[in-house]
Amino acid sequence: MSISLKGKTFVIMGVANKRSIAWGIARSLDQSGANLIFTYAGERFEKSVRDLVATLEGNHELILPCDVTNDEAVATCFTTIKEEVGTIHGLAHCIAFAKGEELAGDFSDTSRDGFLLAHNISAYSLTNIAKNAKPLMAEGGSIVALTYIGGERVMPNYNVMGVAKASLEMSVRYLAADLGKHNIRVNAISSGPIRTLSSKGVSDFNSILHEIEEKAPLRRNTTPEEVGDTAAFLFSDMSRGITGETIHVDSGFHIL
Ligand code: NAD
Repeated sequence: MSISLKGKTFVIMGVANKRSIAWGIARSLDQSGANLIFTYAGERFEKSVRDLVATLEGNHELILPCDVTNDEAVATCFTTIKEEVGTIHGLAHCIAFAKGEELAGDFSDTSRDGFLLAHNISAYSLTNIAKNAKPLMAEGGSIVALTYIGGERVMPNYNVMGVAKASLEMSVRYLAADLGKHNIRVNAISSGPIRTLSSKGVSDFNSILHEIEEKAPLRRNTTPEEVGDTAAFLFSDMSRGITGETIHVDSGFHIL
């Protein structure tokens, strides 16, 4: 796609493998000429992220660990980014987690632990990351988080993750209200279902994909490239008037 992000630097958080939506965003931004910094959850993802990044056109050398459950790890990550590159122009938050057993059966069976874990990783992390990234966005910036229709409506088996996504979407609005005066925009992309490591954890995920193919206005499932191109738009000046918004990239399923 033709948006140019040359000379701009973005942090991509949440690449686990080549199916990750974060990887779709990385490819779109790489094609737009942006400089990219990658963060990964823990050691077990490091090699796969490094191998993938090596396949991109640009030379994106800064690849850092950042476990979002650990305040010190988040602070260290952004301090390193500040020391290495100084200014960033935005970041993509593509991070979520819930226990497998909470993504099936009745929501009313959600454990306290499972509830807090899902909210900690999938929702609170955005606020903490925004706080740490703000000083690096001295020229203004754009923060993009990923959400799902299950944060607006009850979807089968999405359960506690839907409640965490509702919290994430409201966090996007409160952060947009706070950070707007610093010319930092905060938006969410509500992606249609895509087969990834995380979505595999949602019980009966295949039925959800089939339903989209049958019923969504565009009669097809969402691709990581479609989400990536929307993220490139949200990172570009083309979207300079948009903040606190949730844009659905879901073949139109949300209107039904
Ligand atoms: P994914 O498994 O590829 O990505 C999830 C990422 O979260 C992984 O890279 C994982 O390492 C990271 N993560 C988990 N715990 C972490 C921690 N403690 N610290 C740092 N990182 C951590 O799956 P995905 O589907 O690409 O998910 C990316 C985002 O897209 C998530 O927010 C997800 O909810 C959202 N989303 C996914 C779909 C879908 O159908 N796949 C639809 C809408 C929204």
